[in-house]
Amino acid sequence: MTFNSTDTSSTPTTAGAGAVDAAVDHWRTLPISQQPDWRDHPGYGAAVAELSMLPPLVFAGEVDVLRSRLAEAAAGRAFLLQGGDCAETFEGATADRISARVKTILQMAVVLTYGASLPVIKMGRMAGQFAKPRSSNEETRDGVTLPAYRGDMVNGFDFTAASRAHDPARMVRAYHTSASTLNLIRAFTQGGFADLRLVHDWNRGFTANPAHSRYESLAAEIDRAVRFMDACGADFEALKRVEFFASHEALLLDYERALTRTDSRTGLPYDTSAHFLWIGERTRDLDSAHVDFLSRVRNPIGVKLGPTTRPEDALALIDKLDPNREPGRLTFITRMGAKNIREKLPDLVEKVTASGAQVLWVTDPMHGNTVTSPNGYKTRNFDDIMDELRGFFEVHKALGTFPGGLHVEMTGDDVAECLGGADPVDQDAFVDGYASVCDPRLNHMQSLEMAFLVAGALAGKK
Ligand code: PEP
Ligand code: MN
Repeated sequence: MTFNSTDTSSTPTTAGAGAVDAAVDHWRTLPISQQPDWRDHPGYGAAVAELSMLPPLVFAGEVDVLRSRLAEAAAGRAFLLQGGDCAETFEGATADRISARVKTILQMAVVLTYGASLPVIKMGRMAGQFAKPRSSNEETRDGVTLPAYRGDMVNGFDFTAASRAHDPARMVRAYHTSASTLNLIRAFTQGGFADLRLVHDWNRGFTANPAHSRYESLAAEIDRAVRFMDACGADFEALKRVEFFASHEALLLDYERALTRTDSRTGLPYDTSAHFLWIGERTRDLDSAHVDFLSRVRNPIGVKLGPTTRPEDALALIDKLDPNREPGRLTFITRMGAKNIREKLPDLVEKVTASGAQVLWVTDPMHGNTVTSPNGYKTRNFDDIMDELRGFFEVHKALGTFPGGLHVEMTGDDVAECLGGADPVDQDAFVDGYASVCDPRLNHMQSLEMAFLVAGALAGKK
């Protein structure tokens, strides 16, 4: 978020009318999947009307700043770090948990900045990541079948009929929870708590763990770099403020549409629920409502691409979502799985590059590597995650293209959801330590370890 005094473009957006609205609403005529079943709910109209009246969560000017930052990354001059929960929850939106997540992202970013020698764009899967696509509409436990949990914006996680009923009033609560989350993030990143020296100090806790001794030399190099900057008179006051952007999967189009406003400066529609929105692997069909809706807002857009993506699918998505080939507009977030990435990614990258499009390539090394542990938990192996990451860097190196970012499911807390790491998590720890309501996240230490490994690889390449 850019609340610097030099940012004059943070003009509020106003609800628009006429032709702009008609275009933005075209998705309503198209096939749509993964939506709640609440159009006939007595509270539906009131919830949508209330959301439509509430202030934007982000400003159009901030969204434009992010697009220019992502354009830098697409050109190989910056690196994107995007991280957070698979599914945020209302209960989990506490000061401690939000600040632990932001701190962890900032800590990772310092390490990656050093490794890449590039600015790192910091972005949370935060302040809106409340709706989940599901492979099945229903869940059965002990012979009882209820609607599947679709995220706190739709229904509750508790396995009771009342909790699992789809309730449109939850969209309004999601808005307010997002607003208070953003408020804390803005205070944290703009209020002087993100001082580079302080963030670097937090990382000492990581290397103090004997399991992480192999990262000591890189940590010492970063330490020397910070002291060198200090000795040279670097303006650490200026480094106390960092830009931090919010993002989520644009899944519930009722919510996204209600928060879409026409910018008073440009007359163009912006989805003000977040700076960056992405389309999930399950909703990226070219002729779908999701792709159409996001083609019509000015925000930078991501699309998840799984192993079944054909190059012609990627090219058609570019034509629809980025017809003007505007750097920073489109990010492809590949999530191939460690077993597939070296085989599937090259063709995709080659054909997209040959088309002349300048997309930003980001790896999501989580979603293609989900397995069930012998004791029945949805999990991921740290080694598989790192293997996909390495594959991503190898492919781009071989093709001469830029591996521009990292998209991860992580938390700042000491949970046990993913297996492995230098201070290994084993499946027995899941019994007490598994807290995710959806996919498994890297815990605080695993997240930092990933940053050190990626930074080591990036630094080694130079
Ligand atoms: C997610 O990011 O949580 C998700 C569901 O990802 P994908 O669309 O890649 O499966
Ligand atoms: Mn997920």
